Amino acid sequence: MKRLLSLLLIIYYSALLNAQPITGFTEKNAEIQRALEKQFLAIPNALNNKRYLLKLTEEPHIAGSPQSKAVAEYILSKYRAWGLDAKLVEYWAYLPYPQLVKIALLEPDTLKFKLQEPSWRFDKDSYDKRAVMPFNAYSPSGNVTAQVVYVNRGLPEDYEKLEELGIDIGGKIALVRYGGSFRGVKAQVAEEHGAAGLIIYSDPADDGYMRGDIYPYGPLRPSQAIQRGSLQYLFKYPGDPLTPGWAAHKNARRLKPEEATNMPHIPTAPISYGEARRILQSLAGPEVPENSWQGGLPFRYHVGPGPAKIHMQLKMDYKIRPIYDVLVTIPGIEEPAKKVIVGNHHDAWVYGAVDPNSGTSVVLETGRALAQLLKNGWHPKRTIILAHWDAEEYGLIGSTEWVEEHREDLSQNAVIYINIDAAVSGQNFNANAVPSLDKFIQEVVKEITDPATGMTVFERWWKRLNPREYKRLGKVVPDTASTKVGRLGSGSDYTAFLHHVGVPSLMMNFGGRYGVYHSILDNFFWMKSWGDPTFKYHETMSKIVGLTVLRFAQADILPFDYAHYADTVVRHLNSLNKSLHKKFLSVPLDFTKVINKAQLWKQAADSLNQIISKNLMRGQISSTLNDRLMQIERTLLGARGLPGREWFKHRVYAPGFYTGYAAKPIPGVAEPAEQGNWRLAQQELEYFEKILEKVIQQTREAARGFKSANSQPKNQNK
Ligand SMILES: [Zn+2]
Repeated sequence: MKRLLSLLLIIYYSALLNAQPITGFTEKNAEIQRALEKQFLAIPNALNNKRYLLKLTEEPHIAGSPQSKAVAEYILSKYRAWGLDAKLVEYWAYLPYPQLVKIALLEPDTLKFKLQEPSWRFDKDSYDKRAVMPFNAYSPSGNVTAQVVYVNRGLPEDYEKLEELGIDIGGKIALVRYGGSFRGVKAQVAEEHGAAGLIIYSDPADDGYMRGDIYPYGPLRPSQAIQRGSLQYLFKYPGDPLTPGWAAHKNARRLKPEEATNMPHIPTAPISYGEARRILQSLAGPEVPENSWQGGLPFRYHVGPGPAKIHMQLKMDYKIRPIYDVLVTIPGIEEPAKKVIVGNHHDAWVYGAVDPNSGTSVVLETGRALAQLLKNGWHPKRTIILAHWDAEEYGLIGSTEWVEEHREDLSQNAVIYINIDAAVSGQNFNANAVPSLDKFIQEVVKEITDPATGMTVFERWWKRLNPREYKRLGKVVPDTASTKVGRLGSGSDYTAFLHHVGVPSLMMNFGGRYGVYHSILDNFFWMKSWGDPTFKYHETMSKIVGLTVLRFAQADILPFDYAHYADTVVRHLNSLNKSLHKKFLSVPLDFTKVINKAQLWKQAADSLNQIISKNLMRGQISSTLNDRLMQIERTLLGARGLPGREWFKHRVYAPGFYTGYAAKPIPGVAEPAEQGNWRLAQQELEYFEKILEKVIQQTREAARGFKSANSQPKNQNK
């Protein structure tokens, strides 16, 4: 009898193990979902990814050009061939093309810079004369002659250091290195300090030979490769500069260019470190004030001013040009209005093998696999949208205009936005998301095998972030392991979804030693040589994206974890409080109340999570609960935008005003407080408390509503 009992127990437990729950699914539906996922995971294929990428990167395809439209049409034709409903969506955006970029050293020697990326004989793509000359988009045209000052990364604190040295940047040309902030921020800060012009260069310490072998012997930036890129003040508002807040249709109302507030005013251009070397070598004045200012060129850097004197002449051709998004819709059959959205841009500065077309290829292959499931008779419960945005490089334009056009619907119905961009440049998995999605992402990548090691993607991710722990534990990843998911600032197409509308968003990639960002060398040859020679990481990313989509399209209860979100907000508030006390002798802000509120939210969300998992175990589900769960992220938006940048509505995250890419937590409070503007910071703190009150109420209502709705169980989905 005893033996039989233990045998029964073993069977019971192994059945439990086999059942393998999926967060957000009842036991029965998890089983159905597993079968669906198994079908899906067998489809994505590296060879297809390679073929798409070859085609996508055949020609330079800057936004607004006929080649960019051709890429959009190629994407469209693929989806149509697979039997999916796909269309082009046209907008008209204000896009500058460079006509002339001339930089010459006048003193102490005379020297004309080449400003062209050279060709390499084994890389046919490097010969293409149609590649746009290196430039910074949204720089004005201009003509400046001035002495040069080296300003390190061009952050506000770098200019403070220069001031301490008694160096005035007024009327000078600032020489700044890439990195540490978005290049548009560099332009804005240089302008604020009275610079007459700006030259941005790639230092070898950041993505050149100090990091590893350079092209063509390795993946890093050679001395003549130049980083193009936009200077748009996308931390004020992204998208078409002339249509802030509304869609840039052909005949839309438009601002005059001088009315737009997201374009810089001083001539700015990028150069290589081969050229920057000649300028830096010709700077006298004091040594750099700190070692962190010293880059990787083989001499001590000085800040100037002069004797290096530069003449800069820029001529830009500003026009309103057509851009084309590709939108694919797979209609849901149970909740057709609800939308699970995947997006990636397709325009590139030149070829864009990594940025963005590794992602384009990934999304295409995910789409092909979904089309296959449809052919097998499956239909999603919620609608799936696959989007390929245009003109992201100029300022997230294709996605922003689409979001602005569909703001009301997205606010009601967008379940999640999954952003892909520069999906593969190596093997290191990274994720950024709102905190409610941290656990979800980890759960997904526990299902996926890392091609190079045979571990799961999750295990390899954890191992990379915790190398010592991994060794100490005898090369075992503990069951309780969790990894760090980053937050979303800006610099890619999730911006309008998250910061303007409050759609829970995430972004994932496989990163590596990617030294050719925005250069002509970001091409197929580079990908085949270093980024992903077997295209297995493309295939793997297609699987990860597909699983993410399938879980959100099918979940019984949407797998958002607001307890973790609330906890993260508590931590953000504590660390803001701490950093302010470190910076200022006295801080007239009291965080006690707001931290209490965030803790109350955590309690409410904890009990909501418990109720959800109890009900899921009993097979009970609720679609009204899903609506409420989705809406919590929207409640974190303010009806009014952030101070000085109305377009940004999210109150937990925004791109930092002085970082641009990096996320700034609790920006409404943090940014005025860091400037010592206590009155505004106090107002914003009270405003944030009110938002938390609403969120607490909503979380409690969600829990109560679910309890009472479940006196009778609903039908399970098919
Ligand atoms: Zn990109």
